[in-house]
Amino acid sequence: MHPDDLKAIWICHECKMKFVFHSDIEDHNDSTGHKVTEKKMLITMIPSAETLT
Ligand SMILES: [Zn+2]
Repeated sequence: MHPDDLKAIWICHECKMKFVFHSDIEDHNDSTGHKVTEKKMLITMIPSAETLT
């Protein structure tokens, strides 16, 4: 497993598809030729209950 797996998601710049696993990005790149370059950390997307008061 790639060390970045489960810590971040990547978004394909071409079709806006989201990926969690690095192997999925490689498959997408191989099958479509798209470059997946945009990376977002998962931790910033998880709402914290403490901040929703
Ligand atoms: Zn794509």
